[in-house]
Amino acid sequence: MDQDMAREETTHGANEWKKRAPYRAHEPNEHFDAKLEGNCHCGRVKFQLSREEPLDSKLCHCTTCQTQHAAPFQWAAIFHKDDINFADGHHNLEWYDPTSKSIEHKLPCKVRCSYCHSPIMDEGRRMILMFPSLIHLNTEKVKQNFKPRCHMFYGQRVVDVPDGLPKWDGLSQESNLIEDSPPELVRDHERKREQERSKRSQNGENK
Ligand SMILES: [Zn+2]
Ligand SMILES: [Zn+2]
Repeated sequence: MDQDMAREETTHGANEWKKRAPYRAHEPNEHFDAKLEGNCHCGRVKFQLSREEPLDSKLCHCTTCQTQHAAPFQWAAIFHKDDINFADGHHNLEWYDPTSKSIEHKLPCKVRCSYCHSPIMDEGRRMILMFPSLIHLNTEKVKQNFKPRCHMFYGQRVVDVPDGLPKWDGLSQESNLIEDSPPELVRDHERKREQERSKRSQNGENK
């Protein structure tokens, strides 16, 4: 095989994934059963989902999510790659691989709008983790479907969320469950800490 041919094949092979799920744009005559819709902040990235209940819905407190979302934690709803239809396929999207810190499509990776940079989803090897804040959750039933079911990487948290949901130290189902305290106890504890804090500062001022 000569070098040009080899190069062409590599280029072709390297972009093959853009034609597959989740980026494969469905033709208008194909029946994609759109149940929900969503878009990024600027509206260049538009997508549809074929189910109104995610496989799972989680809050992730890992430090990568904290940095990537510039937020205390991330809210992600899990879908199959075939459940999504991007109106313009892979166009207007950009990828980031947090492991190698490169702007490459290497799974698992972060996917954003290439114009307004809104985070759209995380693409894993088998599933996608959609960010429900972008999805139009238009009915009470759909909102309930998307309600978070657990916390992941709670050991790395920067805020406590006393909501009574299961809390995993690391990955859900694979790490230790951190016991969730009843909200009243957490509130009492916080109040006591606050009282001690103000007492300390008063003492400091009096000296
Ligand atoms: Zn955008
Ligand atoms: Zn995370």
